[in-house]
Amino acid sequence: MSKKVFTAADIEALFKAGKSAADVPVGVLLTPSAKDALRDGPGQARGGSPAGGAVAGAPSEPILPNYEYHWTPGQDPKTPAQIQAFFNSPAIVEIKQRMVDIGKRMWAREYTDGNGGNLTIRVGDHLVLCTPTLVSKGFMTLEQMCLVDMEGNQLAGKYKRTSECMTHLAIMKRQPKAKACCHAHPPHGTAFAVAGVQPPTCMIPEAEVFLGQIGMAEYQTPGSAANAEVVGNAAIDHMAVLMVNHGVITWGKDIEDAYWKMENVESYCKTVWVASQLKGGNLLTITGGQAKELISLRKTLGMDDKRANWTECQLCDNADFQPGTVCRISEPSATPAPLDPEAEKLVQTLTDQILASLK
Ligand SMILES: [Zn+2]
Repeated sequence: MSKKVFTAADIEALFKAGKSAADVPVGVLLTPSAKDALRDGPGQARGGSPAGGAVAGAPSEPILPNYEYHWTPGQDPKTPAQIQAFFNSPAIVEIKQRMVDIGKRMWAREYTDGNGGNLTIRVGDHLVLCTPTLVSKGFMTLEQMCLVDMEGNQLAGKYKRTSECMTHLAIMKRQPKAKACCHAHPPHGTAFAVAGVQPPTCMIPEAEVFLGQIGMAEYQTPGSAANAEVVGNAAIDHMAVLMVNHGVITWGKDIEDAYWKMENVESYCKTVWVASQLKGGNLLTITGGQAKELISLRKTLGMDDKRANWTECQLCDNADFQPGTVCRISEPSATPAPLDPEAEKLVQTLTDQILASLK
């Protein structure tokens, strides 16, 4: 007779036997620590978890939240019955719930309007969960979630999958670290995309660490193969991409991570925009040297950065966003940033003319 309740020890035994989260039988109850063990994947047993056999009351090792889904390569369910069992397994139902919750958060923050926006989570070599088409992201239900293969063919779910999943799949195919994608139309990020303005760098440290440089992808019809191509290519080096005249797409190791990047982009674009209104350009920046430190920090958090070998001047080159500024290598000081050499020449010429006319 099969067990009705699974503990962390049961999940660890399952992983030890070479099985994956998908092999947890339908209908069993998972203890909280079993859910943690499922989330952490093979070889990640948590010390101190009561179900893990630790002494009650003993200090447990602090844990970091991690929603990354781990599957066993080569073990995707194949037959229709296996796929259905997988699609309704506790581990997948838990992820569907997270998609529903993130949809609510996107809608509540006005990142999506109408039926806009979509989410995907990779759950196998060739398996991806995605949100349905023509449904408000703020009011989705578990039953509306879909399962597709890496080519976008729908494998499970009563509702039709979003056409924009093709763009998400293109990112996942090119960037294996992209285990989840989030797409929305947040007003400030989308405004930069409509203006065709790449958000500047070196203005807020957290953005350098958690977002890196925001990428740009030229306009193509949403859901088209051409859009998948340009966005997929831009996302190899950028965890957040502005799709010109369309919106924003972000990726991460799990859907919470991908969604946070959406919040980061929107908040960053809003702040830069407000600061631009206050000052009309020439915003303060950190130095290239300080940016280098942040990129190293980013690396220690497991995020690659194509700028790792860039020079200090390249790192904070916002010349397109702030015309007239030039690279500063030194630490910031009270003296104003040097002028553009052309502008300096013009000032000198005008000064000479004024002095000559006074003589
Ligand atoms: Zn869209």
